[in-house]
Amino acid sequence: MFNNLSDKLDKALHTLKGHGSITEVNVAETLKEVRRALLDADVNFKIAKDFTKNVQTKALGQNVLTSLNPGQLMVKLVKDELTELMGGESVGINLGGSPTVILMSGLQGSGKTTFSGKLANYLTSKKSKQVLLVGCDVYRPAAINQLQVVGEQIGVEVYAEIGNQNPVEISQNAIKHAKATGKNVVIIDTAGRLAVDEEMMSEISNIHKAVNPQETLFVVDSMTGQDAVNTAKAFNDVLNFDGVILTKLDGDTRGGAALTIKSVVDKPIKFIGTGEKMEAIDIFYPDRMADRILG
Ligand code: GDP
Repeated sequence: MFNNLSDKLDKALHTLKGHGSITEVNVAETLKEVRRALLDADVNFKIAKDFTKNVQTKALGQNVLTSLNPGQLMVKLVKDELTELMGGESVGINLGGSPTVILMSGLQGSGKTTFSGKLANYLTSKKSKQVLLVGCDVYRPAAINQLQVVGEQIGVEVYAEIGNQNPVEISQNAIKHAKATGKNVVIIDTAGRLAVDEEMMSEISNIHKAVNPQETLFVVDSMTGQDAVNTAKAFNDVLNFDGVILTKLDGDTRGGAALTIKSVVDKPIKFIGTGEKMEAIDIFYPDRMADRILG
């Protein structure tokens, strides 16, 4: 995960980690390299610039150069800033409501269906919830089929209405069915498209209005870098979603999406997907991620 970014930051901070005496020139050079590493990771220019400016301001404020261990303090400031950039605190999902309704949004291929299964599995096994998965992709029977396979695998019921072309109706019926069968969480998997288009946005917005979910989650493929951030913006403008799910972090992603999505849409990353299996789901902790990035 983020191998290239980790390597570059390691190189950038190497001087500070190794040397006893550190000069203003060292610090400036280091921050320049940190900025370069962030830009290489597909972090946009303004965010990378602000990042190093913030670290520099804090370094000056804490008199880094005259401190006992200037190198380590600088590394800590970079780590704190990375943590802050990714949202600071970990934010959980809202499990209120009876049942809790969770609406999944995102482009086709982002990992929505897989993540719906992972979340259902997590809530069933870790939180003792009774979950109903709902297939609302009325355009691709294969998508409903995929959800049914996932449901079978994890032992969670899947609600679908083959032949019904109205996703709003299907989701409303699913919630009725959940109430009638004693489920306390309903996860609605919606249809995605290959790119943002008006029809998809209006459909998901209609479902959103009709079911008034406790949680609207936006799923995005971390491999898509700045595109991920732009797609997040488009979905957030329409749905004002509650959180981001970053998938495919097991691949060799550059890191730009993880680092910048929070500051662009001001919504927390809540979970990450780290593989195709149902167990490959992790709660997102910004500080742990910063630790991992800095090695
Ligand atoms: P959807 O179209 O948004 O519902 O996307 P899918 O759930 O069908 O996922 C698209 C592809 O990405 C599938 O082949 C999944 O197995 C794969 N996938 C989903 N999440 C992850 C992940 O976290 N890591 C990896 N490596 N693959 C994933």
